[in-house]
Amino acid sequence: MTGTRYIFFTGGVVSSVGKGVTAAATGRLLKERGFNVAIQKLDPYINVDPGTMSPYQHGEVYVLDDGAECDLDLGHYERFIDIRLNRACNATTGQVYAEVIAKERRGDYLGGTIQVIPHITNEIKKRIATVAKSTGADIVLVEVGGTVGDIEGQPFLEAIRQLRSDLGRENTLFVHVTWLPFIGANGELKTKPTQHSVRDLRSLGISPDMIIARSDSPVDEELIGKIALFCDVEKRAVIPLPTVPVLYEVPLILENAGVADYIIQRLNLEAPHLPDWTEWKALVEQVKKTKPTVKVALIGKYVELHDAYMSVAEALKHAGIQSGVEVDIQWLHSSDLEMGKGMDILKQCDGVLVPGGFGGRGIEGKIIAICFARENKVPYLGLCLGMQLMVVEFGRYILKDESANSTEFDLHTVHPVIDLMDDQIDITDKGGTMRLGLYPCVLQPGTQAAHAYQVDAIQERHRHRFEFNNAYREVLGQNGMVFSGLSPDGKLVEIAELKDHPFMVGTQFHPEFLSRPNHPHPLFTAFITAVCARAGLGEAL
Ligand code: GLN
Repeated sequence: MTGTRYIFFTGGVVSSVGKGVTAAATGRLLKERGFNVAIQKLDPYINVDPGTMSPYQHGEVYVLDDGAECDLDLGHYERFIDIRLNRACNATTGQVYAEVIAKERRGDYLGGTIQVIPHITNEIKKRIATVAKSTGADIVLVEVGGTVGDIEGQPFLEAIRQLRSDLGRENTLFVHVTWLPFIGANGELKTKPTQHSVRDLRSLGISPDMIIARSDSPVDEELIGKIALFCDVEKRAVIPLPTVPVLYEVPLILENAGVADYIIQRLNLEAPHLPDWTEWKALVEQVKKTKPTVKVALIGKYVELHDAYMSVAEALKHAGIQSGVEVDIQWLHSSDLEMGKGMDILKQCDGVLVPGGFGGRGIEGKIIAICFARENKVPYLGLCLGMQLMVVEFGRYILKDESANSTEFDLHTVHPVIDLMDDQIDITDKGGTMRLGLYPCVLQPGTQAAHAYQVDAIQERHRHRFEFNNAYREVLGQNGMVFSGLSPDGKLVEIAELKDHPFMVGTQFHPEFLSRPNHPHPLFTAFITAVCARAGLGEAL
C-alpha cells in the first residue's frame, strides 16, 4: 500500500444523528480486515478542549492515555474499534487558533497578514497529518463536528476540501451523514433536506462519495435511487442506516450494506485479510437476548443528560453483557436525595454507583446514597469523586464527626480526609492542569481489587486534583478501610475498599474509559457480579 488514505465524515440536516458512531463503526469494518486504523474528531468550538465545559453543554469529557481531555465521540471510537487514541485525535478551533496566534507572536509569519486561508486551514491540515504520523495508520478517518452550514465549521471543511486536491481523489473519500425526516401525516420519509445539505456541501467544493442516510424507519430502494440521482452519488454508495436499539449493531449493518467493500475499491486498497465477525455477532446476540434485569442506581448531578455519563453507562452495559444480565440504570439526582426524594428507588436497587464530578452541588445526596450502600451492604462502585466521597462518608462514621470532608467542598474542615494534591497547590489555570491520563497502580494481594483484576499492577486513566489525605490512612485503615491500590511509591491511594462488605470499592481513576464491549472492565465485572449475587441471580447465571 502506498500513502495514507483519508476518509472524511461530514454531517448534514441536523446534529445528533450518530455521525460519531457511524465513523467509529466504519473504523471497525476496516480494522476487521486488518488495516491499521486511526480516527480523529475535529471540533469547531473555540474552547481549547472540553475539559472546562459543563457536561450539560457537552456531555462527558473523555480522557485518553496521554491525558488529553476529549469529546465523547473519542469514547465511541475507542470502544468500537478497540484501539487507544492519542492527543492528536481531537483537534479544536481553540487549539488551531492558539497555535497560529502563538506563532504570530513569535514572529514566525513576520511581514504577513494572518488569514483563515491559508494560515488556519494549514494548521488544520497539519493536525490531520499528525494523526497518521503519530499512529502509523494506513487509514485515517476524520469526523468534522457540527453540521454543514455552521459558521464555525467552515475552515475545517475548506481544509478537507484542499486535502482532496493535495492528496488526490484516489487517497481521499468523503462520507456525508444525513437525516431523513418522517412525515407522519402521509407516512413518508423525506429526502429534500438531504439534497439541500449536499448542495450546501457542494457549494463549499466538496462532493460526497457516499451518503449515509439515517432515519427512524426503513428506507426503500426507490428512496435510495432518488437520493443517488439528486445527490449525484452512486446508488451502491447510498447507505440507509435506520435507528437501532443496539448501537453495537451498526458495524454489522454497514458491513451488510457493502460500505467496506466500496471504500476498499474506491481507495484502491487491498485488505490484508477477510473480516471475521463471529465475536462481534455473538456480542450483539447477547445484548439482544432477553436476560434477567438488575437495577443499579447511578447518583449524579447531571442525570437528566445521560451523555454526561456515557462511558460509565457503557461500562455497566459491557459488564452486564458478560454476566448475562440487563443492567437497568436508575438515574438518581443527588439533589433529590438531599430533599428526601428517591430513597424508594434507591432501596429497590441491588447496586449503587457514584461517578466522577466536580463542585459542591449535590455532594450530600451522594453521601446519603453511599451511607445507604455501606450500612445495607449493597454493592458499591465509586469512581473518582465517588471514591473520594466514599472516604468522606467512612471518615465521618469512624471519626464520629459529620464535618469530615474533602477540602474541595469545605476548605476549613477539621478532618480533611480528601485534600488537594501537593503538586496542584500552585496551579491557578483551570484548563488541562489536573492529574490527567494513565498512571501505574500496584494492587495489594488478597483484596477485592486484586481479585477482580487478577494481576499485580495496572495502569488506569485519571482526571482529578484532590486525593486521599495520608494523615488518615492509619485511623481509617485500622477501622476497616483497605487501601488496595497504591501508586508505585506507595504515596497515593488509587483504590480504597471496605472490609466486611460484599463489594464496596472506590477508585481514584476512571476505569470506565478502558471498558470495551468485548472486554468489559474487570472492576465493573466484579461490581456487577456482586450486584447479581445480591439480586439472587448469582447461582442462576
Ligand atoms: N472533583 C474531584 C477532584 O478534582 C473529582 C474529580 C473527578 O471525579 N473526575 O479530584
